[in-house]
Amino acid sequence: MPTTRERLLDLHAELSGCRACPRVVGTPVHPSAQPARILLVGQAPGPREASLGKPFAWTAGRTLFGWFASVLGADEQTVRRHMYLSAVTRCFPGKAPGGGDRRPDPDEVARCRRWLRAEMELMRPRLVVPVGTLAIAEVMGHRGGLAEVVGTSHRLVFEGHRADVIPLPHPSGASTWHRMEPGKTLLARALALLAAHPEVKRAFGPRRKA
Ligand code: SF4
Repeated sequence: MPTTRERLLDLHAELSGCRACPRVVGTPVHPSAQPARILLVGQAPGPREASLGKPFAWTAGRTLFGWFASVLGADEQTVRRHMYLSAVTRCFPGKAPGGGDRRPDPDEVARCRRWLRAEMELMRPRLVVPVGTLAIAEVMGHRGGLAEVVGTSHRLVFEGHRADVIPLPHPSGASTWHRMEPGKTLLARALALLAAHPEVKRAFGPRRKA
């Protein structure tokens, strides 16, 4: 009987060969095959992640890991070990005509869902952390403003599995939401909820200096 890690390795091998979306640029990105009970769902990789070989490897990642360091006292490597960094789509969508990264289109989101579904099935996470409006819409079905959900915690069924869900804004430099009110206060509330979650406490232990 293969272990979860072995099944994740097989899944990643299959994912790496996926070329289902003609508009995307580069190859699929996935984290290391380290099973975790906390699953973070980003939007899509940026232009550098495929060559660097891991999700959140550039500026958005620096902000994201900075948030976690501030409440968990954990460095990037520790966060990557205990949090599986998934995404709504796994390939860089390319640049948008008006600048910034293109938001994945609904067909790409639908095609890429199979990987997230498989990861949910394999790891059955206790906590799911959707990051940004697209991931929040996919995980929670919430298509309203960030201020309505960031800073709240939910228990819901996602891909057939019951999990706690704590949404975060996207740490992209293109977004100012988390740097201005009410975003700053709501982000702090969301991070406090995250730090207090039993699965986070179990994984990261008592807070220590990063
Ligand atoms: S975005 Fe997802 S479905 Fe589309 S090619 Fe990349 S891995 Fe495959």
